[in-house]
Amino acid sequence: MKVLVVGGGGREHAIIRKLKESPRRPALYAAPGNGGIASDAVCVPIAATDVAGVVSFAVQEGIDYVVVAPDDPLVLGMVDALAEKGIPAFGPNKAAAILEGSKVFSKNLMKKYGIPTAAYETFADAGEAAAYVRANRKYPLVVKADGLALGKGVLICEDEAAALAAVKSIMEDRQFGASGSRIVIEEFLTGPEVSVLSFTDGKTVVPMVSSMDHKRALDGDRGLNTGGMGTIAPNPYYTPQIAQVCMETIFKPTVAAMNAEGRPFKGCLYFGLMLTPDGPKVIEYNCRFGDPETQVVLPLLESDLLAVMQAATNGTLAQTEVKFSGQSAACVVLASGGYPQHYEKGKPITGLADGQLPGGGATVYHAGTALADNVLVTSGGRVLGVTAVADSLFDAVAAAYGAADQIGFEGLHRRSDIGQKALAAL
Ligand code: ATP
Repeated sequence: MKVLVVGGGGREHAIIRKLKESPRRPALYAAPGNGGIASDAVCVPIAATDVAGVVSFAVQEGIDYVVVAPDDPLVLGMVDALAEKGIPAFGPNKAAAILEGSKVFSKNLMKKYGIPTAAYETFADAGEAAAYVRANRKYPLVVKADGLALGKGVLICEDEAAALAAVKSIMEDRQFGASGSRIVIEEFLTGPEVSVLSFTDGKTVVPMVSSMDHKRALDGDRGLNTGGMGTIAPNPYYTPQIAQVCMETIFKPTVAAMNAEGRPFKGCLYFGLMLTPDGPKVIEYNCRFGDPETQVVLPLLESDLLAVMQAATNGTLAQTEVKFSGQSAACVVLASGGYPQHYEKGKPITGLADGQLPGGGATVYHAGTALADNVLVTSGGRVLGVTAVADSLFDAVAAAYGAADQIGFEGLHRRSDIGQKALAAL
């Protein structure tokens, strides 16, 4: 069986590594993949957003199943385009991917179906948004671009001047292009954040083990927001009681709401939650696996990922085993110096053989790496994710850092406190 994974980051590497364990021994391809994925799959130089290119490659190569991992191709309708050629794919179709593709849609959906989320208003007119800001008395205030913005479209504004500037930069200066033609302005919530990825076939929803991201660039949650500097799983704040509440008030109602809207969702539905004093609330939905959350969640999956993904596509999730080990995992991201702003590329990476640590003990997921004359070099902001699995979170964190210590490249930046908040909460 030939399986193509679309994308080329740490998330895709974690997916490919888990698919490689499938007893069905699929032949794996990646578009475009990266320098480390090249050790595990055949990489083809097609951009993840090139819908026509991916479809024609899949047809030509006789690909049996496609996993569309990133948000952009899902929102662009890659799953629909593959279906037109009779090729099944993991991920929501365009109509369902709007759950991530438009925050105005997702907020209105939550309001309509009574799913707990921050109170909000939406605007398509900058003047009306500014007038709303001027009438507001409560800060911080959260201003969000409607569409995809590479994780940068959310601005937490401490005062009126900042909120007006946010409205201007998103709606008038179009900092995020067409994604800013509409905005959501919402109340600021407080509480621990939890990421819960789930598999769903549009009928059954099966949550995966919970996780905690570390979005800021520097220790102590300081510095700029990034794509994620590390993750741990499970998230200690997410107790079985809270999980039960989330299942009944958020997960099942979301799947039912999408069905009621005629947009059945199949694939990985990601719930970004905040455990507020008033109970769990949805901060955001993603229509795909999170990165780097996937790099701690999938290593704990004991079932056959390929079988689970196909069950989500075929509508047979209720009859399929989805089992996670009771262990813990920690992932430390090694980034290029200067990330998430300016950074240099092309730095040779030391300490790895065939992209992995020679001694084992941890798995290295490649994000921004490339092969230049057979030398592994940096090629992006987030370069590697080093993941360790252990019986306790303490041991997983220690093992991940022990492994990360063996890897080097010029300008390497990493946080030294991944998992500390979670360990303190235990
Ligand atoms: P990504 O898809 O990269 O996770 P995004 O651009 O879709 O990001 P959100 O996840 O909606 O953005 O928000 C980013 C972060 O901003 C959240 O993880 C949370 O820390 C903070 N945030 C968002 N909304 C609120 C809110 N209403 N109250 C407090 N913090 C918030």
